[in-house]
Amino acid sequence: MVLSGPSGCGKSTLSRLLMRRHRGIVQSVSVTTRPPRPGERDGRDYHFITPREFQRLIRRGRLAEWARVHGCAYGTPRRPLEAALKAGQTVLLDIDIQGGAAIKRQFPDAVLIFVMVPSLSVLKARLRQRGQDSPSVIQRRLKAARRELRAIPRYEYLLLNDHLPQALRRLEAILEAERCRVARKRVILHKGVLG
Ligand code: ADP
Ligand code: 5GP
Repeated sequence: MVLSGPSGCGKSTLSRLLMRRHRGIVQSVSVTTRPPRPGERDGRDYHFITPREFQRLIRRGRLAEWARVHGCAYGTPRRPLEAALKAGQTVLLDIDIQGGAAIKRQFPDAVLIFVMVPSLSVLKARLRQRGQDSPSVIQRRLKAARRELRAIPRYEYLLLNDHLPQALRRLEAILEAERCRVARKRVILHKGVLG
C-alpha cells in the first residue's frame, strides 16, 4: 500500500495508527539524506545517511526506487520490501508521487492511495502545528503541494484526512476491500474451494 500526499496531510499519523491496530502490516523504512527531526529515530522513522552513502546504494541497485523530494534524496530499500512481500505481509510505503509511480511499475499489485486535506490552509496549519520544520521549509512544502495534487488522477484511492478517526476507518476499508479482491485470492480458489 502506497500512501502519498502533500507533506503534513497525515501519512505518518495514519500509518502509525493502522499498524497499531493490525498485525501483519509493516512499514518500509526509507533511506534519506534529510537530517532527522526532533524525536525521529534512526532505523525507525528513516535510515539517515549521507549523500555519498545514498549514491552507493543507487549504484549497487539496492533501492527499489528513489527520488529527490523537497531538496533531499529519499529511497526505498529493495531487500526488506521484497522479503516482507514474500512473507505475505502488507507493506506500507509513505513515499512521494514519483516513488508511487515507480513502485506501481515494478509491483502492479501495489495499491496507490493519495491522502488529502480539506484545503491548503488546513495543510499550512498542520505543518505549523507539527512544529518541526522551519518557516522556509514549510513554504517550500506548501508550494510543492499544488504540484503534487496534479498526480491524483494517477492514484487509485483518494483518502480525505479531515477527521482522523474517520480517515483511519476509510484506510481500513480500503485494506479490507483490497484483501477481498478475487485476483488476490487465486491461491485460495485453486487450492481451497476448487481443489
Ligand atoms: P505527513 O506524514 O503526511 O507529513 P503527519 O502525519 O506528520 O503528516 O501529520 C502532520 C500534522 O498533522 C501532525 O502534527 C499530525 O498530528 C496532524 N494531523 C494528522 N492528521 C490530522 C487530522 N485528521 N486532524 C488534525 N491534525 C492531524
Ligand atoms: P518527510 O521529509 O516529510 O519525512 O518526507 C518528505 C516526502 O518524501 C514525503 O512526500 C514522503 O512521502 C517522501 N518520501 C519518504 N520516503 C521516500 C522514499 O523512500 N521514496 C520516495 N520517492 N519518497 C519518499
